[in-house]
Amino acid sequence: MYDTIIIGAGPAGLTAAIYLKRANKNVLLIEKEGIGGQIASSPLVENYPGFKAISGAELANNLYEQVDNLGCEIAIEEVLEITKDKKVITDSGEYQAKSIIIATGCEYRKLNLEGEEDFIGSGIHFCVSCDGAFYNNKVVGVIGGGNSALINALSLSELCKKVVIIQDLDHLTGEERYIAEIGKKSNVEINLSSKVTKYLNENGNFSGIEVNNEKDIKLDGIFLSIGRIPTSKIFKNLIDIDDYGYIKSTDMNTNLEGIFVAGDVRTKNVRQLTTATNDGTIAAIDVIDYLNSKNL
Ligand SMILES: Cc1cc2nc3c(=O)[nH]c(=O)nc-3n(C[C@H](O)[C@H](O)[C@H](O)COP(=O)(O)OP(=O)(O)OC[C@H]3O[C@@H](n4cnc5c(N)ncnc54)[C@H](O)[C@@H]3O)c2cc1C
Repeated sequence: MYDTIIIGAGPAGLTAAIYLKRANKNVLLIEKEGIGGQIASSPLVENYPGFKAISGAELANNLYEQVDNLGCEIAIEEVLEITKDKKVITDSGEYQAKSIIIATGCEYRKLNLEGEEDFIGSGIHFCVSCDGAFYNNKVVGVIGGGNSALINALSLSELCKKVVIIQDLDHLTGEERYIAEIGKKSNVEINLSSKVTKYLNENGNFSGIEVNNEKDIKLDGIFLSIGRIPTSKIFKNLIDIDDYGYIKSTDMNTNLEGIFVAGDVRTKNVRQLTTATNDGTIAAIDVIDYLNSKNL
């Protein structure tokens, strides 16, 4: 029986683990992919206090080492379900806890077109710093027109032969400074009012996209940059969730006693590293108060 199970090893979950381990609690941290969460894919972080500039991967690794040095138990498993009595069911087993912190963050939004799942990782990508190098001197598409799409296009323009931005609106929605930078790049083409309607496939391999049901664009790969959605689906039968998929919370409390939430997955206005670590701290202290008040 764990004092707490933390679901998600992003900055919120890792911070909660630091506070709980330092309070001598018996903690299991469960992560389905890579330790560090979203920030691990960021090439550069310049707004985390105490670090003038640090790569996301290094920051994630520092957090991991800090948690590991405190002796925190970590399981690389995917949580599939939790129950009201605080059982946590994963793809590999079941664990019982006295309290739970949900820190599952956000994940990349997909287009949900046929064949998407098959091509993810081999033709369809999300993270330029992770997968951009596969497309050295090739032709890639960036789907989206906001800041993350423009930043991805700028990074890819440094290594790809050509970058094609595909935006469904009739204008780009990113900041002016990024639009200006894109304008200076001779190998970046912008296609506005272009909605992706199909993934193209040649002999089972990704070969490009169809836009507006009429025009085929040949591409070696694409990077979907169309925003993020909260990772809350598995909790929806138990935990109150708002219309956008975020877990409703009063401070870090969910609607269920002893089940707390922290980080990007909860309802709030600002989703950043500092707010995620802030939530992780408060959730951990809430857990300690909860365990003490119930004599658990
Ligand atoms: C490319 C990029 C650059 C960014 N740059 C900055 C920046 O410069 N400054 C800044 O302040 N913020 C930045 N952010 C935002 C910042 O990374 C997030 O606000 C922060 O990571 C949120 O932390 P979190 O712990 O709430 O969630 P996440 O980081 O999303 O972590 C959640 C973790 O939960 C895991 N998980 C989800 N579901 C399950 C499950 N069922 N079972 C087990 N594990 C699960 C996920 O795999 C993930 O590791 C950036 C984000 C991105 C994507």
